[in-house]
Amino acid sequence: MAIVNENHLKLPGNYLFAEIGKRVAAFKEHNPSADIIRLGIGDVTRPLPMACIDAMHKAVDDMSRIESFKGYPEYEGYDFLINKIVENDYKKRGITVGVDEVFVSDGAKSDTANIQELFGLNSRIAVTDPVYPVYVDSNVMAGRTGEYIDGKWTNVTYLPCTSENGFVPELPKEKVDLIYLCLPNNPTGTTLTKEQLKVWVDYAAKNKSIILFDSAYEAFISEKDVPHSIYEIEGAKEVAIEFRSFSKTAGFTGTRCAYMVIPKELKAYTADGSEIGLNRLWYRRQATKFNGVSYIVQRGAEAVYSEEGQKQVKETISYYLSNAAIIKNGLESIGIKVFGGVNAPYIWMQTPNGMDSWVFFDKLLSEANIVGTPGVGFGPSGQGYFRLTAFGSRENTQAAVERFKTRLKV
Ligand code: PLP
Repeated sequence: MAIVNENHLKLPGNYLFAEIGKRVAAFKEHNPSADIIRLGIGDVTRPLPMACIDAMHKAVDDMSRIESFKGYPEYEGYDFLINKIVENDYKKRGITVGVDEVFVSDGAKSDTANIQELFGLNSRIAVTDPVYPVYVDSNVMAGRTGEYIDGKWTNVTYLPCTSENGFVPELPKEKVDLIYLCLPNNPTGTTLTKEQLKVWVDYAAKNKSIILFDSAYEAFISEKDVPHSIYEIEGAKEVAIEFRSFSKTAGFTGTRCAYMVIPKELKAYTADGSEIGLNRLWYRRQATKFNGVSYIVQRGAEAVYSEEGQKQVKETISYYLSNAAIIKNGLESIGIKVFGGVNAPYIWMQTPNGMDSWVFFDKLLSEANIVGTPGVGFGPSGQGYFRLTAFGSRENTQAAVERFKTRLKV
């Protein structure tokens, strides 16, 4: 008899975006003529940079010739891409990362979900709250999170980030082993300064904890004192793994390419206290479970770092950030409190009069025909908040703001 992994059964019902889809479909059925604007799911809409398209066309041709054909790629990624990553994302910022510390992958979702496999089942995890749901759910599946009671897992340490603490998480009272930090944050769009991030690096060093630092939105950072990499903080290479993605940086959500950095100095421990290097452990894991990212896609990602690639990427990011500014300014002009939107493509708004996130979702959908994401879907501290994304077209973004002003009854 095949027995299922019952941890999977513990996951609460509908995945957030499935529930949103269901509600939107029901609304559409009763209001077929409604012109719905979607500022919900965090997917990009602008096409890939031309530099990436050209590089991928060339790579397709390489596959047609015997002398340049490629079979299985390296598990950790091709040198041509890793060298560009090391040079541009790290060396230019004064950070030393070795080529053998970078692991190219098909996405930060799978990386951030899979990394927990390296750690013992008794490891205590901490997550900023609200946050990208993958961190918690992947630990639920592994059996690390305890029971789900009143919207919280009993064995997870939640680090609330709300307007009351300026979205700066406090250090946990109990000792934690793994700390997920997502900066710039999805969903709040907020960040930490170098000084604030240093507090976490110091905590991890003191407690032999590991920080899992997801900077999928790094390309949106526009303010000066915001670190682009956790390795800008002294001592971080001993305590942190960094995740990056080409998805939001260069529109690769459908093309799939990302990478992570696992420094050689980063160690975890066996139960009897022996040090184990995580870099080799991950390499071994990847060699067993992953067969690499396609040559064509890695050539496309490499082109992100070319002169034209950089120019085109910056244009697209600036398009989205202008959308964010339009939403932020528009909502503020009608007295709505908003956060984020400056170093991230997300605007985190407080619901009017502290309304429940899902009640506001239904209200916004029915009165203004706008779809957003209820904050509580990202964690208990998201209650009373709502996420809007800047990934729509300029036209839809402007129209949505106009509808907020004219149709929403608050
Ligand atoms: N990390 C965060 C914080 C995200 O918001 C997302 C996507 O929305 C991802 C990772 C997934 O990235 P990828 O497309 O590289 O899998």
